[in-house]
Amino acid sequence: SISQTTNETIFTKIINKEIPADILYEDELALAFSDINPQAPIHFLVIPKKPITTINAIQEEDKALLGHLYWVAANLAEKHGFAKDGYRAVMNCNENGGQTVYHIHLHVLAGKAMGWPPY
Ligand code: 5GP
Repeated sequence: SISQTTNETIFTKIINKEIPADILYEDELALAFSDINPQAPIHFLVIPKKPITTINAIQEEDKALLGHLYWVAANLAEKHGFAKDGYRAVMNCNENGGQTVYHIHLHVLAGKAMGWPPY
């Protein structure tokens, strides 16, 4: 698709404030915002501002950035009071993973007991 070849997705527009989002956290490296189609009582996404397409495209230079996304997720879990109860923080990769937006994003799901296995 065009999105995959240009590396530009709807999330680039959210980062650039060209389309609105319910932004929960922002710093120079990352952005967190509520998912538009929540799959749990709490469902937000933590994304790097760098438009990495999939987990498979992560480079050695990105390793700290990926850790940063989890650090942002954990801080928001604490801030919003669901850290202790628990949550799921996952990335989907490519078709079998259910990925639809080709700009990596950590899904943070909370507010209920998540099922496992996830099918
Ligand atoms: P994926 O299926 O790629 O793992 O997850 C993409 C997620 O992005 C989905 O949960 C979907 O609801 C969310 N999403 C897609 N477009 C938008 C949008 O324009 N705004 C927001 N806030 N979330 C979106």
